[in-house]
Amino acid sequence: MEPVRESFWNMPQPWTQILLYVGLAVALGFFGYGLYRRISLWRQGQPDLRCDRFGRRLWNLLVYALGQVKVANEVFPGLMHLTLFFGFLLLFVGTVLIFFNDDVVGPLFRLHYMRGSFYLGTEAVLDLMGLVFLLGVVLAIVRRYLLRPARLENRPDDLLVLLLLLFLGVGGYLLEGLRLAVQQPPWGSSSFVGYALASLISALGATGPGALVAHRVLWWVHAVMALGFIALIPYTRLFHLVTNPLNAFFAPLETQAALPMIPNLEEAEVLGAAELAHLPRKRLLDYESCTRCGRCQDVCPAFLAGQPLSPRQVILDLDAFMLQRGRVPLVGARGRKFEREDLELAGGVVAEESLWSCTTCMACMERCPVLIDHIGTIVELRRYLSLCSGQIPGSLRAALDRTQRAGNPYGQRGGRMQWAEGLGVPLMADVGEAEVLLWVGCAGAYDPRNQKVVRTVAQLLQRAGVTFAALGDEEQCCGDWARRAGEEYLFQTLAQTNVQTLKSYRFRTIVTACPHGYNTLKNEYPQFGGTFSVEHHSTYLLRLVEAGRLQPQEAWTKGPTVYHDPCYLARYNGVVAEPRQLLERVPGLVPVEAVHRGRRALCCGGGGGKMWMEEEPDKRVNQVRLREFEAAEASAVAVACPYCLSMLDDAVKVKGLEEKVCVYDLSEILAASLPSA
Ligand code: SF4
Ligand code: SF4
Repeated sequence: MEPVRESFWNMPQPWTQILLYVGLAVALGFFGYGLYRRISLWRQGQPDLRCDRFGRRLWNLLVYALGQVKVANEVFPGLMHLTLFFGFLLLFVGTVLIFFNDDVVGPLFRLHYMRGSFYLGTEAVLDLMGLVFLLGVVLAIVRRYLLRPARLENRPDDLLVLLLLLFLGVGGYLLEGLRLAVQQPPWGSSSFVGYALASLISALGATGPGALVAHRVLWWVHAVMALGFIALIPYTRLFHLVTNPLNAFFAPLETQAALPMIPNLEEAEVLGAAELAHLPRKRLLDYESCTRCGRCQDVCPAFLAGQPLSPRQVILDLDAFMLQRGRVPLVGARGRKFEREDLELAGGVVAEESLWSCTTCMACMERCPVLIDHIGTIVELRRYLSLCSGQIPGSLRAALDRTQRAGNPYGQRGGRMQWAEGLGVPLMADVGEAEVLLWVGCAGAYDPRNQKVVRTVAQLLQRAGVTFAALGDEEQCCGDWARRAGEEYLFQTLAQTNVQTLKSYRFRTIVTACPHGYNTLKNEYPQFGGTFSVEHHSTYLLRLVEAGRLQPQEAWTKGPTVYHDPCYLARYNGVVAEPRQLLERVPGLVPVEAVHRGRRALCCGGGGGKMWMEEEPDKRVNQVRLREFEAAEASAVAVACPYCLSMLDDAVKVKGLEEKVCVYDLSEILAASLPSA
């Protein structure tokens, strides 16, 4: 006797099938209506959802939505979500296979593929996946209601969804167990979980007519729940099953290290976003994709320092506002309630203090499993504050004004080569061409501590025999922080001037000790026609050492040394290994690591314009980072960024640790290890 799947066993026909189809149509109707309402919300945004480079987008969907690669990077939540997701996915595939067998190819073509070994194999796999799925549900319940990690917030629909999933899983096994207990087919053991339940039911002697009634009742309850599940998707947190694949598919394929340019700035009607309709559709899809996992909040330096910013809350508040304004029917509450619906996004829906607390460190985006672009939203809202409403912190406004007047946030006119006094560093204007153009940066030009760093870099280049020159007073602020503060006008003016200047000289590569300048010149100046070879001094110096042009010999005597990864180098540009390799070349240097390092390093607090803003003394990001270095028992901190140097130096001084911890630029450590010339 060939094993075969019997459709609608114990269910009266044709009524069961007819009612099931009607129920499915109703459920799909609810689903379709909910989906339509949500899509209508996104359509109010600026059209930007693109399908170009379809293969790459499909790949992103497979890797991030189906493969869940970013979900898996935390052990317990990763295991919970992966078991839940893959168990559900394979059960769904199995259900579709059965549906096609019973309701499509079977009746239409008399083709029943659910038979023989294929049928038995499918049953075994589905039973296994049912267990995986239930494990995920149980882990989710344990985590959410017993372990209760601080970052998880519970809403009523969370419980509803978990109970629904639990019932669907357990109910499916019970149905199978009852059927096998009554039918007792010789191949029953391939459905090993259902078979075990059937054995139990048989042992209890519950295989009489009562079992048939119980099966029939349970079948209907299970069917109603399954159809209810489909219908509820757009009205509960289950909607992320739809939005997450879409968000992965429409994710930008270009580097996210560059902020998008506002084209035709003079003619743009709105600068930044005052309301939802001013935002690109992809941003609105971002808000709908948030699973409230809290990973972004866990790594946000501003949040950790006690400042009024949670990247998760920014996203959730914008979503709640959009849903409230769109009158989207929901099961259970969807976050914050707004008294007024005519609020501006910046300053109304999201508090100004939250927006100005962001250092644009990108830690949130690095960790977000569903590819949400927090910085894109924050900068869009900052642009509105800076360019339209003028609500901008006083100290930041002053720095912007100084830059407008003098071309740098220090407000100094000229004198950009003071740092090089006595070194004989040539100007590009005099030599016209050089192997290396040394991009000094504003901190290197005017901040006394950072002047020493650029001086050291120049001396190292001279020692290695590199022909280089600087722009001197022709160099303007690169504009990185102004752009991230939302001042796109000023940024574009600076960028255009610098690109024009750089294009007028011949050089092989630009070398800079500033990761912000590095990122802007490398990733953002191409938007203005300036595509140059740009290198950070850490990688350039490493190559000089590897080529034997610089030979570290003297032992490092400052004790265990921790390397602090600058956000704009490690996260924005993936430069993580080279600075460490450079330090490894220094004899006697004992490297230690902070708990957060590499692409997961914690910010120093100086990016995104924060360098020019006041911070409350007890809420400083640099102090949070310094505590990590203390925990690593480091007595020296190696940095590779002028902001990091200033912020961490400051943190050490404020805490009175000058005797215990010293902060150096990588170049200074390398220079100290060279034999006297
Ligand atoms: S970019 Fe950094 S500071 Fe800004 S919200 Fe994200 S994690 Fe927080
Ligand atoms: S924004 Fe991303 S990381 Fe943050 S809570 Fe939402 S899904 Fe999680």
